[in-house]
Amino acid sequence: MFTVTDASGFIPYGRQNIDHDDIEAVVEVLQSDWLTTGPKVAMFEHDVCNFVGVSHGIAVSSGTAALHCAVNAAGIKAGDEVIVSPITFAASANCVLYQGAKPVFADVTYDTLLISPEEIEKKITSKTKAIVVVDYAGHPCDYVSLRQICDTHGLPLIADCAHSLGATLHQQSSAKYADMATYSFHPVKHITSGEGGMVVTNNDEAEKKMRRFRNHGIDTDPMQRAKDSVWMYSMLELGYNYRISDFQCALASSQLTKLNHWILRRQEIAGMYGAAFGQRQEFELLKTMEGVNHAHHLYVLRLSRQFNSSHRQQLFDALRQKQIGVNVHYVPVYRHDYYQRNSIGSDAKCPNAEAAFERILSLPIYSIMTDTQVQRVIDEVLDSIEKL
Ligand SMILES: *Cc1c(COP(=O)(O)O)cnc(C)c1O
Repeated sequence: MFTVTDASGFIPYGRQNIDHDDIEAVVEVLQSDWLTTGPKVAMFEHDVCNFVGVSHGIAVSSGTAALHCAVNAAGIKAGDEVIVSPITFAASANCVLYQGAKPVFADVTYDTLLISPEEIEKKITSKTKAIVVVDYAGHPCDYVSLRQICDTHGLPLIADCAHSLGATLHQQSSAKYADMATYSFHPVKHITSGEGGMVVTNNDEAEKKMRRFRNHGIDTDPMQRAKDSVWMYSMLELGYNYRISDFQCALASSQLTKLNHWILRRQEIAGMYGAAFGQRQEFELLKTMEGVNHAHHLYVLRLSRQFNSSHRQQLFDALRQKQIGVNVHYVPVYRHDYYQRNSIGSDAKCPNAEAAFERILSLPIYSIMTDTQVQRVIDEVLDSIEKL
């Protein structure tokens, strides 16, 4: 560990954990023959597949690229509608726009801020062609209900698992329930490759399509051609350069070996926050549903109904003043300027998302956060809330 954040210094809401093993893994690749689309990419794909229990993994340049691969493989095109959660990072809905299709926002449930299966059913039309759900904060969605809805209507279920690598529902990863699941390896996420992402699936057709989509729509990759001693390749459809490099994948594979320990630490921290805030009338904490092993990518503190967005702002300002890196996850996607200007989702009625957005604040949580730092956050939150 290289940054020993001193107890009185700035505490970010999330940060990476890089040790000597990780660095050695990267250096080894830098001294090898393949810097990109080589053996470490395949190894990392294999490692993630093993970890989540799915047969194919396609590593790409970001979580956003992974989402784009997934909606493209689902055949989403202009004129289609895709149902999406409003409480997420914009990328979960932007990937639908990339395909010229329309994101339709279904409200979240009040208790968890996860997309509501009942609200999804209300939004399904003849134009609906897929559903993108998000394991917000690291809590898997209600996949039993979602699977049922998708099977009934013949819709592909795409799970944005950027927050939930390592989480389970009834001992199974979210990827086991979805048709395609995507991950992000940005430094604030559970494990990092700097920038990076992956999409996993059990569907052989989707796998082939996504491998091509990652590489300009070309049918073979350079390592395959080197092995086979052929130069000929064919571009079968329009794709992108969404490739990831071998040294990034070496870093991420090394990180993955530590993930289970890191999740336990995040759960401890969430437990300390829960014990401090759970019984107080100033807060209305999010719930964890039965059968869930929560990955706690975010710790979302929700103020109770007596407070509004200006109280939340005051609390945010007070904590930032005290070097606590609080944040807000998320502004409902359809409220973003681009969405408003282009009237995308402006007809969305998501009262639970709206109500939550006014009163949520993400507190720092990451694997190398110390008990002293957690206690400092707790003390400052309690001190600041009394002054509202
Ligand atoms: C981080 C994140 C993404 C995008 O991942 P990038 O790797 O930054 O492109 C998508 N969805 C959610 C919910 C995220 O948190």
